[in-house]
Amino acid sequence: MKHCVLKQSVNRLINELPREITIVAVAKTRSVEELDAVKESGIEILGFNYVQEAEKMCLQFGSSANWHMIGHLQSNKVKRAVRLFDMIETVDSMKLAYLISRQCECFEKVMPVLIEINSGKEFCKTGVLPEDAEELAKYISKLPNLKLQGLMTMGPRFGNPEDARQYFRNTKEIFNKLNRLLIPNCEMKYLSMGMSNNYHVAIEEGANLIRLGRTLFEQKEAVLS
Ligand SMILES: *Cc1c(COP(=O)(O)O)cnc(C)c1O
Repeated sequence: MKHCVLKQSVNRLINELPREITIVAVAKTRSVEELDAVKESGIEILGFNYVQEAEKMCLQFGSSANWHMIGHLQSNKVKRAVRLFDMIETVDSMKLAYLISRQCECFEKVMPVLIEINSGKEFCKTGVLPEDAEELAKYISKLPNLKLQGLMTMGPRFGNPEDARQYFRNTKEIFNKLNRLLIPNCEMKYLSMGMSNNYHVAIEEGANLIRLGRTLFEQKEAVLS
């Protein structure tokens, strides 16, 4: 029964957001029941930080949702990731891009990918440096089994949401620049940034994919009161 409340709070959140914004429900530490509840409320994309986590969920959940890899992808997990995911948001090196494309060939699959931008060197351990994004985008555009569709960035997860604004703005600038270059086989469509703490700021700065964990799953008390 408690999931009725979860559904209500998810519905309310979806109604508050502009239409062009798509939510990725971040699955870490959540139960199958919780993920089912958000899916029934109309969220179609689930985001996973780890391949193992997604595999475990896959057995119980089937393939009725759209799955995004949002955590750092290790080379030795690429094969399993390619089988599971509908998008990999965290491509941050030529080597990783190459490995994903090669695995996709075996499955005759074209994988939509985002480039992860390391927008804040202080807190981001992963992602490509802003100055290297263009080179990586051009490299990806030549790989037959990848389709570049945009950028993703983390930004700081906690603290004052305003502190994230400059990182989001920088990432949007890179997004615009790559868009203007009209790179072949590259469709700059998604800008994935913003989490529970700062998605409002991210949307103001141009995000259209927001990745939400806590604010989706932990608002039960707020709804009850
Ligand atoms: C955990 C996580 C999120 C969601 O964070 P919340 O603060 O729970 O909304 C989004 N993106 C990534 C990559 C994460 O690891």
